[in-house]
Amino acid sequence: MNIIVMKFGGTSVGSTKRIQEVAKRVEEKVNAGYKCVVVLSAMGKTTDQLVHLAKELNEQPSPREMDMLLTTGEQISIALLSVALHQKNIEARSFTGWQAGIVTDKVHGKAVVHEVKTDALLESLEKGEVAVVAGFQGVTDKGEITTLGRGGSDTTAVTLAAALQAEYCEIYTDVTGVYTADPRVVKQAQKIEEISYEEMLELARLGAGVLHPRSVECALSHKVKLVVRSSFEKVPGTWIKEQDQMEESLQVRGIAHDMDVARIKLLGLPNRQNILAELFTALADAHINVDIIVQSEHQVDQMSVAFSISEAEAEAAQKVLLAKQSILGFQDMLFEGGLAKVSAVGVGMMTRPGVAANMFACLSEANITVKMVSTSEIKLSCVIERDKAIEATQSLHRYFGLGADSKVSV
Ligand code: ASP
Ligand code: MG
Repeated sequence: MNIIVMKFGGTSVGSTKRIQEVAKRVEEKVNAGYKCVVVLSAMGKTTDQLVHLAKELNEQPSPREMDMLLTTGEQISIALLSVALHQKNIEARSFTGWQAGIVTDKVHGKAVVHEVKTDALLESLEKGEVAVVAGFQGVTDKGEITTLGRGGSDTTAVTLAAALQAEYCEIYTDVTGVYTADPRVVKQAQKIEEISYEEMLELARLGAGVLHPRSVECALSHKVKLVVRSSFEKVPGTWIKEQDQMEESLQVRGIAHDMDVARIKLLGLPNRQNILAELFTALADAHINVDIIVQSEHQVDQMSVAFSISEAEAEAAQKVLLAKQSILGFQDMLFEGGLAKVSAVGVGMMTRPGVAANMFACLSEANITVKMVSTSEIKLSCVIERDKAIEATQSLHRYFGLGADSKVSV
């Protein structure tokens, strides 16, 4: 069977008119002889509205009930697309996450897919139906409904493409592809024709909202051919593929920025053997993701540790740490909110030195103070003040020669 997976995001299914457009796109693929699995997000801003409703009733709604609530959004869109396809005499059947066999762990709100039982979907495709699957939801082995985290429909799509060995997976969205920077922030940002899985993964993790990071991880590990394209305009999108199949490896392919960063600093931590393990296990057990970590030793028996974290999780992190203060033995905890992270990403960094020097020079020319730095083989990130983040992104984009306005080409 030549299966493809098509995923449409919230704006692409934002109204019945848009759903009719999606039905047309699906019809074209059906007529071209493909067996189609279509993964949908909730209509427009439905998920946000549902979150808002729950928060009106309870500041900290239970994650289990949130999953129960949020999964209803996707169920509306899958049923509506199916009826729109029926109107076109196309056989179609909608599937909730659990009907589609998407089995996850039990972490409500950010569940990880453990297994996909593909029987029901394969049966539907063999019958000649379009299988319309609710994005971002799954079920635990105990039958509890879970969600994969905000933006998780991309992950549903890629996971299904991997499990069904689809020819490729298309992510339809409201932009025409992946850009060298967020085009809402950098006017000169350009569409990237092709990008490696590794670069895309870094960009997605670093705040490029166009793809859910876990979807790229899944595409990378299963070598799923992935394309991001517009559901509004019929123009070529961005292909995400293996590095060795790409034409050029640039020193910097894109600039990402993440506006949700905070820093926690622990002072006077005892310098004992496994203190770092104890500290970060406490945070991991509370499912709190830590990003950049900086450790410094002031005295032989004492050190300080600073780490960056999403500001949204900072309160929870501080609670966990305060509860463990006597066990961990730190003297003081400092919190700094209102930060952001700007990053440059490119596989060419591995072979061409100088990116760090250029990045610091650019930020210093713009009078922007760097508070934390982290590097990998293909990325360099700096934590800075949030109100400087837009300016930093624009300056770096220009400095690294990514836009039509660029001064230097490196
Ligand atoms: N509807 C969910 C959200 O808004 C999942 C998704 O669209 O990917 O986060
Ligand atoms: Mg999305």
